[in-house]
Amino acid sequence: MRIFDPHIHMTSRTTDDYERMAAAGVRALVEPAFWLGQPRTSAGSFADYFDSLVGWEPFRASQFGIRHYATIALNPKEANDPRCREVLDLLPRYLDKDNVVAVGEIGYDSTTPEEDEAFAAQLALAVAYDLPALVHTPHRDKARGTERSIAVVAESGIEPGRVVIDHLNEVTVELVRDSGCWAGFSIYPDTKMSPPRMVEILRKYGTERMLVNSAADWGRSDPLLTRVTGDAMLAAGFTDDDVDQVLWRNPIEFYGQSGRLDLAELEGAVAGPAPTFEGNSILRGGS
Ligand SMILES: [Zn+2]
Repeated sequence: MRIFDPHIHMTSRTTDDYERMAAAGVRALVEPAFWLGQPRTSAGSFADYFDSLVGWEPFRASQFGIRHYATIALNPKEANDPRCREVLDLLPRYLDKDNVVAVGEIGYDSTTPEEDEAFAAQLALAVAYDLPALVHTPHRDKARGTERSIAVVAESGIEPGRVVIDHLNEVTVELVRDSGCWAGFSIYPDTKMSPPRMVEILRKYGTERMLVNSAADWGRSDPLLTRVTGDAMLAAGFTDDDVDQVLWRNPIEFYGQSGRLDLAELEGAVAGPAPTFEGNSILRGGS
């Protein structure tokens, strides 16, 4: 089974996770910029974090044979902190980078006017930089938050096929299917969405424009739940080709719209360039 995890926060994970993911079939992943738990107090913290997402973390992933891509944005939660607003001005520098494949995570957390503004501004950046967008839906009052997100996406003028609305469940999936956006599902160990529920949704709505991720981060989560979902699909009678579509070809089709996925490398036709990382030379004592 080959797996492309379209949403996972490796910054919060250990090398043991990378090792287990590679053994389970994960060959590529997308790490969206998000809230790190500890609130940041200046734009400089974000710049260091974004640098890590496009430099250090891809290097770390490469040591386990995993191709690492990123999405960059000011996340909805921190969009409410006036000290973080200038992050919006930093984004263009990162949206130009080769392995940044979308603007995200954007969307709503508490649905404030500040979040409205940051959401719309970043959808406009996605259009300007010709990138897809990854939209996070709030965990509280998810149906209203999803509806409103779809409306904001429609107003922005971005093509719905270039947007994934993520963290969906049985209540919100239909709204998103009707909108033309891609549907994203984060599989968690004990909340929100489980592998058996995911299999039921795939049975009901089919395997097209569906993205399944582990969203593993600093909370209780499991980076192998993509694999567990693939196994649950097979046990439920889906074919190997169905699993390959959901866990491999769909993420490639969606993020491939950025024009920045190295398709030949992902398909194993050519070996990618050996990744190097120069940023930590200071830690090596200048040697
Ligand atoms: Zn996330």
